[in-house]
Amino acid sequence: MARPTRAVKAWSPATDMAIPQSFIQELINRTDVVEVVGRYVQLKKGGANFMGLCPFHGEKSPSFSVSPAKQFFHCFGCGKNGNAIGFLMEHAGMSFIEAVKDLAQSYGLQVPEDDADPAERQRAQQQRQRQATLNEVLDKAGESYRKHLKTSPQAVAYLKGRGLSGEVAKQFGLGYAPDGWRNLASVFADYQDALLVESGLVISNAEDGEEEKRYDRFRDRIMFPIRNVKGECIGFGGRVMGDGTPKYLNSPETPVFSKGRELYGLFEARQALREAGYVLVTEGYMDVVALAQLGFPNAVATLGTACTTDHVQKLFRFTDSVVFSFDGDAAGRRAARKALDGALPFASDTRNVKFLFLPAEHDPDSFVREHGTDAFARLVSDATPLSRFVMEVARDGCDIDTAEGRALLAAQAKPLWGSLPEGVLKSQLLNEFADAVGLGQHELQRLWMAAPSSGKTGFTGAKPQTQGTKSAAYSPWARSGANKRPLPMGMNLRSKAPTRRDRALQILFADMLQWETLSSHQHSLLLEMPSPHGQLLAWLNQQWLENGVQSLAALREGLREHEHEALVSRLIDDAPSDIDSDAGELQSILAALEIEQLSQSIDDLTRRMASDPDAYARIKQLNARLASLKNSPLV
Ligand SMILES: [Zn+2]
Repeated sequence: MARPTRAVKAWSPATDMAIPQSFIQELINRTDVVEVVGRYVQLKKGGANFMGLCPFHGEKSPSFSVSPAKQFFHCFGCGKNGNAIGFLMEHAGMSFIEAVKDLAQSYGLQVPEDDADPAERQRAQQQRQRQATLNEVLDKAGESYRKHLKTSPQAVAYLKGRGLSGEVAKQFGLGYAPDGWRNLASVFADYQDALLVESGLVISNAEDGEEEKRYDRFRDRIMFPIRNVKGECIGFGGRVMGDGTPKYLNSPETPVFSKGRELYGLFEARQALREAGYVLVTEGYMDVVALAQLGFPNAVATLGTACTTDHVQKLFRFTDSVVFSFDGDAAGRRAARKALDGALPFASDTRNVKFLFLPAEHDPDSFVREHGTDAFARLVSDATPLSRFVMEVARDGCDIDTAEGRALLAAQAKPLWGSLPEGVLKSQLLNEFADAVGLGQHELQRLWMAAPSSGKTGFTGAKPQTQGTKSAAYSPWARSGANKRPLPMGMNLRSKAPTRRDRALQILFADMLQWETLSSHQHSLLLEMPSPHGQLLAWLNQQWLENGVQSLAALREGLREHEHEALVSRLIDDAPSDIDSDAGELQSILAALEIEQLSQSIDDLTRRMASDPDAYARIKQLNARLASLKNSPLV
């Protein structure tokens, strides 16, 4: 595969790394993972890949494979995988920086700590400073809220009324934002400072022609500082004490705060998670604080949003066991359904996910107070396992006494089952679904796998079980694809039947050379696909324009923290390993896309025929093209 030698000027994500992303990408591009692994493991060529005895687990026959095309290694025995950097970290025990330096040295590159692209370094530096400044502003506000709590008898009385001790209030840094529009003006020297708005503490209301009005976002509320896993204050939740609305008010999305990623209480709970062996995910910050008070310090909460895959992935860095707790009403069921979707891709055989439904009139706090901690602990241990909940969700609304109902069940079960990582759990659920549908396991599997099958089991990018946050800032496995295990012999399943658009992405990312061989008309067909596929190919096109053809490993580095990184990872992890050679499939996908596009245009023109005199001639033209495409061997 061609390797670019020009300097890589890549899309640059926000990371904590001192080494620019573009350098990492270039390094991966130049590195040969076969050579790097070969320094430690004796490898023998076997087909397109190299095989050897896995250095991560004891074995007598080789299940450790290294792919030169993908620049990835993968063990089918223990699931470890990664690129050259990951291998050095995991096997040679190097830190990320050490691994980068080691590789750079062997390929004669200079790590840009000493010799950087100054503009890029400055940008990264500025961004870090900006975020640090926002954290300081938020910290300072938090401090003032805490001071106000001490001097507000009614706020103290409220917390006491909820059964909270001063100790727990202190542990969570609770405070009080007094009533009034501009209390923060006495905390910060300059109330007009843009940082106050950027941090979400102050609202700026500037209507056309009018003078800007500024006021505090949080007024007369109990304040819950939201901390990231490093313990820095990144935002606030504010709760009214009386009947005001909204009951809960959160900081807006800011450069340091993203609701879809952060979990309230994770910083405070991280020690307790290890001790308790599981995390309890609740729906509000009051639950978290109250549960800590009542002897369950291992609780966290989402921040007014459904649980996302980002949340779940984050939680699994701290523990292997997640219990989601929901109110027993309809809203709770809906939230549980969303959490299920977020959790399924991570539900590997070594992890445990449960769903706890409280009696309708209770939240966790009130339940513990009424029934005691033992009763709550029992509720946790009796919570619905994921396997049962997934079955309940699939059966929802299906009358399984009728064929139609069973067919509906199969249709509802398919995407759920498809989201699961490969493993024993997945196989067992296939069995259960088949029973419920009234089909044989193989029959159901064949129905679900109706898409063209490609033989070999691919590199199923597994994420090893890493406890703790040691590599949170940079993990070579920080992929949302999660923990996939190789399939038992003889089974060739994909976790989801990929769509035509998915396949186009799989093929083009795995073998970028194919992008180069397409015509510009074909490029535009692909680029016009709806988001995220079209958007990702636009990114790929940009990479191609700037850097030429790159290996899959380099592309994945470049996509780190891209908003659709997870999608690409999933697709790549699901792809069979022989797609690189399959140029014919891409051509037939393109033909199908063109047929779609032509049919759409013909429809549009037909509707305009009455008013557009040229429409008829154009339709004829398009129809001719359509007919020739449909008759081609590609379709
Ligand atoms: Zn292994």
